[in-house]
Amino acid sequence: ARIPLIAGNWKMNLDHLQSIAFVQKLAWALKDAKHAFGDVEVAVFPPFTDLRSVQTLIAADKLELAHGAQDVSMHDSGAYTGEISGAFLSALACRYVIIGHSERRQYHHEDDEIVAKKTVAALRHGVTPVVCVGETAEDLETHGPSAVPMAQLRVVLDALEADADIVVAYEPVWAIGSGQAATPEQAQQVCAALRTTIAEVLSEDAAARTRIIYGGSVKSSNIAGFMNQKDVDGALVGGASLDVDEFAAIARFR
Ligand code: 13P
Repeated sequence: ARIPLIAGNWKMNLDHLQSIAFVQKLAWALKDAKHAFGDVEVAVFPPFTDLRSVQTLIAADKLELAHGAQDVSMHDSGAYTGEISGAFLSALACRYVIIGHSERRQYHHEDDEIVAKKTVAALRHGVTPVVCVGETAEDLETHGPSAVPMAQLRVVLDALEADADIVVAYEPVWAIGSGQAATPEQAQQVCAALRTTIAEVLSEDAAARTRIIYGGSVKSSNIAGFMNQKDVDGALVGGASLDVDEFAAIARFR
């Protein structure tokens, strides 16, 4: 069975001091949610400059919380000013790294080839990639809901070994930060199509074990609808992940 993943993408919010206070409060808020530490995995994705603080706190207090980064270089080391290697993330015990978020695709011109190379780089260092795909409103109108995310994912899958361990995040661009989430049925339709793509390119086994999560205006008031879908294995939460109580309520989706 796939363990649900509730992931908080902080984007460019909370400095390292704020991150410490936030994670302490979050751990407290999740404490009474018994299942939150059992059959659901909760992860936070702070900015790079917070990672050492968050890692130290999680280790010192033995918090059952995972942490990850929001991006990684496709290179391992060298003359790449401003870049962060997968080796560095691995050294900070990052379990995950978000790759190909629509904001990176839009503002940093990351295309599917770059996303594929970054995914391979993360895997090379033992960090599980959370590969983001999703259509814009325009794509939706022109190609329907699944075509663009499936094509984006296919480029990444083509670069992977059959036993690669990744998480896929379906984030329709029109739903991100808009307050206009996809319906649970829409999310299910695309997540199922993405699972079929994994089966085609990698294997049935990979399709059965890979977690596919939904992102885009997820809140405590709509999370249950998504989690009730058979191919939706969790959520990638932006804005609502910056409010401790709201994020903890999302993690207690049942
Ligand atoms: P919102 O939850 O703010 O819509 O952001 C979603 C997102 O981009 C998570 O990566």
